[in-house]
Amino acid sequence: MKTKCSAQDRSDRSPVGVEVAGLSKNYEAQTVLKDISLSVKPGEIFVIMGPSGSGKSVLLRHIAGLEAPTAGTVRVNGLDPTDPATRDRFALALVFQAGALFNSLSVYENLALYPLEHQLCPKPQIRERVMRALKILSLENAAEKFPSELSGGMKKRVAIARALVMEPQILLYDEPTSELDPVMGATITEIIATLKNEYQVTSIVVSHDRDLALTIGDRVAILMKGNLRTICTPDELRRVKDPDIVDFLNPKIDLKNPRYLTLEAS
Ligand code: ADP
Ligand code: MG
Repeated sequence: MKTKCSAQDRSDRSPVGVEVAGLSKNYEAQTVLKDISLSVKPGEIFVIMGPSGSGKSVLLRHIAGLEAPTAGTVRVNGLDPTDPATRDRFALALVFQAGALFNSLSVYENLALYPLEHQLCPKPQIRERVMRALKILSLENAAEKFPSELSGGMKKRVAIARALVMEPQILLYDEPTSELDPVMGATITEIIATLKNEYQVTSIVVSHDRDLALTIGDRVAILMKGNLRTICTPDELRRVKDPDIVDFLNPKIDLKNPRYLTLEAS
């Protein structure tokens, strides 16, 4: 993935780390993240799990520099990711949950759009980068297709390929296996692990997917109602005793005593 064609000189393409310290986020009266501190080591797969609405995507958007904290700090490679002055000093790419593909553009055009608009490289190198990303995701034959012609799994792969065109040192994934059948989910899980192993890209994965977290996560953070409940290894997570976390990972449905309905309403 190394190339010298970036408009910005990103000669140091080593994986980057993330430091989050005392991060809180309010939207008007609602506090969505509460005093979150964590660090992600360069080159690891850091999984963020938690129930819907617990603040996972908001946390990821802060790391991507798309939102600024109400309190606390976020640093990527030691730099503020919201600062346009230093934003080109590390290569970060975000794989959006819904893919965020442009329906009117072909797969190739979706991948080439950002590098062309930002003149990341001369055109022939952009083509090279796009074709390389498509190859890595086994999508060479889909280059001329449009998003409406793709299956859910292919759309997720295209979204990952589009992120790879940026030659990222850090890749953020928001729910990369949601809405996929189990085999396609496993495929995406293997892709995330392969990208980390082959390109040493630091990977932060927001996911509900227990299998993903336990099989490829180096460490797993559990976020509940905006609170960071634990950061542990997959092995530690398997042995965790906290009843909220146990219940989140292994919900037990008992139709004689239904309890999730009441929990949901509370
Ligand atoms: P999830 O863990 O499912 O990814 P989110 O991070 O998307 O949860 O959202 C956490 C909470 O923050 C939710 O209650 C959501 O409604 C709220 N929220 C997220 N983004 C915004 C926003 N831009 N403005 C107001 N509230 C938001
Ligand atoms: Mg989310």
